[in-house]
Amino acid sequence: ATPMSVIAGVGRAAESGVLVRDADALQRASTLTTLVFDKTGTLTEGAPRVVDIQLFNGASQKQALSWAAALEQGSQHPLARAVLDRAGDMRLPDITQFRTLTGLGVSGSLDGLPLVLGNGALMAQQGIDMSAANDLIATQAAQGITPILLAADGRLTAMLSIRDPLRAETSAVMKRLRQKGYQLMMLTGDNEITAQAVAREAGIDRAIAGVLPEGKAEAIQRLQQLGQRVAMIGDGINDAPALAQADVGIAMGSGSDVAIETAAITLMRQDLNAVADALAIAKATLRNMQ
Ligand code: ADP
Ligand code: MG
Repeated sequence: ATPMSVIAGVGRAAESGVLVRDADALQRASTLTTLVFDKTGTLTEGAPRVVDIQLFNGASQKQALSWAAALEQGSQHPLARAVLDRAGDMRLPDITQFRTLTGLGVSGSLDGLPLVLGNGALMAQQGIDMSAANDLIATQAAQGITPILLAADGRLTAMLSIRDPLRAETSAVMKRLRQKGYQLMMLTGDNEITAQAVAREAGIDRAIAGVLPEGKAEAIQRLQQLGQRVAMIGDGINDAPALAQADVGIAMGSGSDVAIETAAITLMRQDLNAVADALAIAKATLRNMQ
């Protein structure tokens, strides 16, 4: 039987906007050593914006933007929203053979013209020469910007620079959690340089970048094998395997249904302070039982 104090703890958590699935989850949340945060939509606002467009090989901005936006019409990714917002009410051509390349980008065909849009890893995989963009990519990524590349017919056409600012409270919450003795980590599918820049800005010790969804779960498992007790905090479909693998999965209430269904804890307040509050309540509740 579950002790009354733990049931009371679940109730107290609910009052502060934290839904705890069961008493067991609260117990596990009281003994964590390591907190792993997803980047996009968890540490950041999840409302990315295109802040710059660079052109290559004689493309026009209008053409590049309409091709990129046409591709992104088929994508659910937060970056797709940014590209579509930038295109505004521009008329977009129809895309055939559309494909989502998880953790990489999207591809498709426009009247027989093959298009790919995504990160550097995708360009490398497609054998696209991006040497003309390398310096720009490095400078912008070091500022926490995510560079997205567009190629048409195997040639680099444009680079879209996308910025997704940290949530207003992120740095303060990371400081608060660090003072409580937790090891803080970030896990993202984004590139290494952008990831390190965002982690530094957030005050997070370590970033693991360029990971696909299954890779996120494996990264959690490796930490557990080292004896760490791990919470994963995320919002996306791509976080679900890691949320399931973690000792405690914590989903943002604004996140995808899959993330919420998989997580043991859901934050109903759109504020990362709720993570710190939930862990404090879990500790206080279990302390009262001893
Ligand atoms: P995250 O962990 O940041 O949510 P994902 O695994 O979803 O990252 O994606 C990793 C990277 O793949 C993105 O940072 C981006 O560079 C690229 N990518 C994925 N989907 C798209 C898309 N629809 N359009 C452009 N780029 C994309
Ligand atoms: Mg996310």
